[in-house]
Amino acid sequence: MPSTVPSSELNLILLGPPGAGKGTQAERLREDFPLAYIATGDMLRQARADETELGRRAQEYMERGDLVPDEVVIGIALERLSADDARDGFLLDGFPRTVPQADALQEEMAKLERRITAVLLVEVADEEIVRRVSGRRVSEAGRTYHVDYDPPKHDGRCDVDGTTLVQREDDKPEVVLARLKKYHEATSPLIDYYDHQGLLRRFDGARPPVEVH
Ligand code: ADP
Ligand code: AMP
Repeated sequence: MPSTVPSSELNLILLGPPGAGKGTQAERLREDFPLAYIATGDMLRQARADETELGRRAQEYMERGDLVPDEVVIGIALERLSADDARDGFLLDGFPRTVPQADALQEEMAKLERRITAVLLVEVADEEIVRRVSGRRVSEAGRTYHVDYDPPKHDGRCDVDGTTLVQREDDKPEVVLARLKKYHEATSPLIDYYDHQGLLRRFDGARPPVEVH
């Protein structure tokens, strides 16, 4: 088949500040479409839990709310992207986060003769981000709750598997501000980057999850 035949696959990117609700929307989108979910933050947290070399390299950056170096993240994201289950469409959450990462993704897509379908920007003001991130609690399996906006049925326990809910280390206030600063410096230029390519779609993330969805 010639490579010029348009493809119907959905290759989506979720863009937005930490705590905007990207993971929350990803969960819903995955119920609508059979997309391989690629969340670099989850992959890095897993590597840390498994105490791999990657996890050790990422640790110091994640702890202080900094971005993990491009060459490390680009490697794991692109490798995951070429896995079999991502062949018919993917949902990227938390990648790309810098212009060099976006350039690397673009190059890889060209090599694979694939295209990004759309970049979904979830916009939320900084004050609300701080409220969301500081109230976020996660289960062992990574299910997300919020102490006020989306509380579990039983205090501190996951509704699905009953495991204890914890606060992510990097959701503590001092780290949240560093992460937000990094977002504005390094990641927000991607808004124009993708807007210029006609790929950007904006969503008001301040609305309730069902409306954002
Ligand atoms: P991200 O993946 O962008 O870091 P999350 O999806 O983990 O963000 O959401 C951050 C926190 O905000 C979580 O505690 C989640 O329950 C809560 N949340 C997500 N979307 C909304 C929303 N639209 N309104 C209120 N709270 C939300
Ligand atoms: P997240 O779960 O998306 O909030 O990511 C948690 C942390 O993982 C970030 O604060 C970064 O330290 C690191 N991280 C995740 N994705 C990337 C990326 N694309 N580039 C650099 N660092 C990343």
